[in-house]
Order: sequence, then structure tokens, then C-alpha cells
Amino acid sequence: MLKSLSTLALAASLGFASAASADEKVPFSDKAMEILRTAVGMRTAEGHGNVPKLAAYLAEEFRKGGFPEEDIHVLPVGDTAALVVRYRGDGSSGKRPVSLSAHMDVVDALPEDWERDPFTLIEEDGYLFGRGVLDNKMGMTSLTTTFLRLKAEGYVPKRDLIIAFSGDEETGMVSTQALVNEYIELTDSEFVLNADAGGGALAPDGSVISYNMQAAEKTYISFEMTVTNPGGHSSRPRDDNAIYELAQALTKIQAYKFPARSSELTRAFFKASAPMASGDLGKAMAKFAEDPTDKWAIAELRSHPEYVGTTGTTCVATMLKAGHAENALPQSASAVVNCRIFPGVGAEATLNTLKDVVGNDAITWRPMKDPVETAASPLRDDVWEVLERAVHARYPGVTIVPYMESGGTDGMHFRSAGIESYGISGIFLKGSDMFAHGLNERLPLASFYGDLEHWYMILKDISDD
Ligand SMILES: [Zn+2]
Repeated sequence: MLKSLSTLALAASLGFASAASADEKVPFSDKAMEILRTAVGMRTAEGHGNVPKLAAYLAEEFRKGGFPEEDIHVLPVGDTAALVVRYRGDGSSGKRPVSLSAHMDVVDALPEDWERDPFTLIEEDGYLFGRGVLDNKMGMTSLTTTFLRLKAEGYVPKRDLIIAFSGDEETGMVSTQALVNEYIELTDSEFVLNADAGGGALAPDGSVISYNMQAAEKTYISFEMTVTNPGGHSSRPRDDNAIYELAQALTKIQAYKFPARSSELTRAFFKASAPMASGDLGKAMAKFAEDPTDKWAIAELRSHPEYVGTTGTTCVATMLKAGHAENALPQSASAVVNCRIFPGVGAEATLNTLKDVVGNDAITWRPMKDPVETAASPLRDDVWEVLERAVHARYPGVTIVPYMESGGTDGMHFRSAGIESYGISGIFLKGSDMFAHGLNERLPLASFYGDLEHWYMILKDISDD
């Protein structure tokens, strides 16, 4: 989904210079441009049936790059597909494989709404424009190209590296579930590095603020709450009324604040973020990292929409539907309440809390989809050190901030299968460049080259001892 970067861009900059060499060509960058151009040209949104074509195209690139047929798997899943490619190592490290995750699908884009054709890669003013350039076709391209480059260089990893691309991350994630269920023998690994989350935040002047690593996701679930009523003629109103009852219930949800929660990860997040934030916000971050029960710190953090979700569970009304005619008493009124549940709290416990808060047994509640509940991935030293070396090679000294995503990426399905997952994209963006899922999606050209360098360093480093 790659959507957290802008919310993580903190107010103050540490003033590091931006990486001067980031837009210089790197080996295989022409190949990467060709792959990205071809991928953007395929409208891999739901319903267009193009993901299997993209998977087949990539499979052919791997074949041409010298990967043996038995290590390339295009896996049809409904009308989409997943792709698994194993880069066999010599096993000398004795370590289990590392999986590399990205997705081949995109959120659809309507050409008539865009300034340029969303399905043609266009370079203009130092940017690459096209649907998916940020989310997530650059990540997919970087991982693919890095495999091709390492193979061409004759590199033999000391553990296996496994590309595991999904084909419907933006919608059902059915292909992601297939990767960790039916096809687990192909993808089983010590941990996953995900190109679809994390990355660097740049200030408006291009200086770097921080690098952000995704290590957890909140549980995403929506509940539909419904009040029904016999209704009747609106000229004869009664005290009972589905719309009023629903409105009262919603007002109670609005007023309710879930208890503050913290974890090793969120305390580390606030501790690392505190020096970069100014005034009361910075003080509250530092205080919360030290004492997550501090009432002042909780209230201050919760007054900032970009941080409220990191302090606990949130539930908010997002949709409303009621009545059937302007001159009739409503026979039903329903609302959707969307929750982002803090890891460890649980969807059932959250629903029970909502029911208690509302206190109206006449309301029926329906979870709109089964939630995927996952624990935070621990902050592993091996991943941290490799990431730090790669990030600091490009941006010396920049602070690396672990964070919890408000949900969700393919990482949650790996985590739910017991495989730790870390979102570590190499893309560095200004808040003003964040157009994932939106109109005129664009990738700074510097990030195209930077992301290729980033993954080349990461994949070599994670597999050479
Ligand atoms: Zn994505």
C-alpha cells in the first residue's frame, strides 16, 4: 500500500544533505527502466485480467537472465497470479532463506482523469509518471532487476533468496494468502523484506528527515451496525426511530477513547521521532516512550491525527445508510465503523467494547470481513544492521525509525503465517510527492536510481555471510 510515508514526515528536519549521487546511473538501470515501462503499460488493476501477463513477462526475464525453469513459478490464483523465483545459494551460511515481497497489481486509474496516460511511463521534470510507479511497480522492478544483476555478476548467495510477488494486494490479498498456504514450500523463509512499505521521508527542500521501517500492522476491520424498526407514515412519528437510535449510538462511539497501548515497537518509534519533532509534540513523544501511561503525553499525541493510531485502537464512523422515502419512518438505519486495532487487543474484544459503549442490544453488528490479526515483528539485529548500512551508504547518519502501519500490506499475511516481515523500501519522498492510489502518481527519478542501489546493497549484504 505504501501510504505511510507522508504521515511520518515530521515537522522538523535534521538538515542532512540529500544524497548527491542518487540520480547517477547504476548498472542495469536501463534494464530496470525497460521493466518498469513494460509493467506500467499493463493495467494490472482488478478486473482487467493483466496480472498473469505481467507475471509471465517477468518469468521470461528471469529465464533470459539465467534462472532455471524449476526455480520460476507463475502461480495462477483466480483471475490473478503470484510469482515466485528462487535464487539458489550455496547454503554455506547455514541460514534459512529470505523472502522478498512486492505486488504486481495496482489500484485502477481512469485515463480521462489523469493529466498524462496513467498506463504509459512518462519522464518529465525529474519524475517518472504512471500508475504504480510508487505503489508498487518500482519495488517489484528493483527486486527483479537486482536478481538479474546479481546473476549476471556471477554472484552466489550464501542462503537462498526468494522473490514472492502477489497479484491482488490492493484488493483481496487472496494471492498473498496462497503464497503462505498452498505454496508455503516455495516461500518458507526466516523473514520477509517487503518493498511495499517503509522508506525515507524528505523535507520540502530535499534534505532527509528520517528513514522509516515498517515492522507491524494494526488489525483492520469494519463493522456494519444496523438498527431496524417497523417504520410507518412520517405524518405519525413515534418515539422509536431507527435514525435517531443509530445517531445516538454513533455519538457515543465518537465520544469514546480506547485505552492507550504501547509496545516495544511503538515506544522505539516515539523515542526515535522525539528529537525530530518540535515543541509539545516532541516532548510528548519522549515522555510517552518513557512512560506510556502519562496522561498529558497521551492527550498531546492524540491531538495529532497522524499519531493517534500509534497510541492505541481507533474506531471511526465512515459510512451511513438509512431510510427509504422522505415521507416514511425509516425501517432501517446502518453505519459502517472502521477500526484499526492495536496488535494484541483482538477484533472480538474490540467489538465487545463497542457494544458496551453503545449499550443498545437492539443494534445488530456485522463484521464486514474476517480480520487478519498479527503480532508485531521483533526488531531483529540482522535486519536492522543490513538496513542501516544500506540507508547510511546513501544518507549518512539519518535516523532509522521503526513504525507500525495502520494497515495493511502483504506483510500481514506473512506475519500471520509466522514469518516476520519488515517493510524497507528504498524510495525517499517528500510529502508533496505522495500520490499513491491517487491521480498523477509519480516517482522522483532520483528515487528510481536510489531504490535500485538500495536493494542491490540489501540483497548482497543479507546473503553473504
Ligand atoms: Zn502497495
